[in-house]
Amino acid sequence: LPNRIRKSDVVVIGGGAIGLAIAWRAAQRGLGVTLLERGRFGEGTSRVAAGMLAPIAEARPTEQPLLHLNQASVKAYPGFADELSEASGMDVGYLRCGTLVAARDRDDAEALERELEMRLALGLPVSRLRASEARRLEPALAPSLRLALEVADDHAIDPRLLTAALVEAGLRAGARLRAGAEVATVEVSPRNRVSGVRLTDGEVLETEHVVIAGGVWSEAIEGIPHEARVPIRPVKGQILRLHDPSGAGLVSHIVRIAGSYIVPRGDGRYVLGATMEERGFDTAVTAGATFELLREVIEVVPGVSELVIDEVSAGLRPATPDNAPAIGPTSVHGLWWAAGHHRNGILLTPITAEIVAGMLVGEQRPELAAAFAPARFARGAAQSSTRRDRLMPVGA
Ligand SMILES: Cc1cc2nc3c(=O)[nH]c(=O)nc-3n(C[C@H](O)[C@H](O)[C@H](O)COP(=O)(O)OP(=O)(O)OC[C@H]3O[C@@H](n4cnc5c(N)ncnc54)[C@H](O)[C@@H]3O)c2cc1C
Repeated sequence: LPNRIRKSDVVVIGGGAIGLAIAWRAAQRGLGVTLLERGRFGEGTSRVAAGMLAPIAEARPTEQPLLHLNQASVKAYPGFADELSEASGMDVGYLRCGTLVAARDRDDAEALERELEMRLALGLPVSRLRASEARRLEPALAPSLRLALEVADDHAIDPRLLTAALVEAGLRAGARLRAGAEVATVEVSPRNRVSGVRLTDGEVLETEHVVIAGGVWSEAIEGIPHEARVPIRPVKGQILRLHDPSGAGLVSHIVRIAGSYIVPRGDGRYVLGATMEERGFDTAVTAGATFELLREVIEVVPGVSELVIDEVSAGLRPATPDNAPAIGPTSVHGLWWAAGHHRNGILLTPITAEIVAGMLVGEQRPELAAAFAPARFARGAAQSSTRRDRLMPVGA
């Protein structure tokens, strides 16, 4: 890895939360940065995300390296949000709301007891609440509630405010941010070194370093040698945005139910999601998914039926074969990945930007990033999933 790179020679492909945060952090470190976004900034998957910062509620014993990365990012969030808000002069919508995981019936309650044990065994801060205790915290919870877990450290951010602030902070730090600029090809020299990028209109930008942060569309970028590619597949998520005409206060925590969740924005707006569907690049919004999400949440928070629906949308989570992100350099000198963040891209924005910007200026790869090296997909070690028609409501 080069220890130093010339100024103005990092091109970031993709203006979602990940690319924008990398551009900001890299510019802050004195690098000359050009970010290329084919559409408008923050209008890819990041625009659809709920914005839960929930490593504990989503922890799985089989995904410990990801849990540690998620936790490191959550720990960095308060400082990151303050600094970003200061640097951009904008509100970033960071809400210290905490999370309740609710059980509606006996089956849910049994599953929740197992979830509690697993989290306690991992040393995660979770507490068990009787239904009456949960309802004291959130009076809008249905009387039929059986049991709840409180995850006091799992919070939320508004991804749309986050990306808007990252654009402003990036510009103020001196990054060059270009919308409407689509990269067709990464140009690699015969000496296996990045030499530039070619846009779809034929324009060529010379650069020594390219960071691929194109989310689920990263795979379409040409010119990347086979051994430096990362397979990424779309995992569709349908999600609703609603508001309460009578103002804030229906719920103040994120409330998660077996297959769905409601996230408060703190001002009477709510996000309710989300499905997990393997259907390729389909972003159609369906009646069945909307119905199921609403039904499940209304069963636990009946007052949701009074909310006004503002938007129903679908986004595509960028998922690698092992569902963990690809962060770091490749076997091609100057070619970096920061993509494949699946359900956790908003949560992982601060730590991903910190890792990539640090390594671009010659810092060592932090230990906790080792498991996410893009090289694990080299030599076709893993194949992109082609499963279709699976509807699994759950998760971010
Ligand atoms: C329903 C749903 C709910 C979610 N909830 C959460 C949550 O609660 N918490 C959480 O942490 N995560 C959540 N996520 C996941 C999160 O949205 C993603 O992991 C994250 O947004 C990925 O960010 P990104 O910057 O990599 O991708 P994107 O936001 O998709 O940005 C990639 C950008 O690259 C651009 N691009 C692509 N190719 C090119 C090219 N060739 N040239 C130029 N530009 C290009 C695209 O136009 C796009 O703007 C959710 C996702 C969904 C769908």
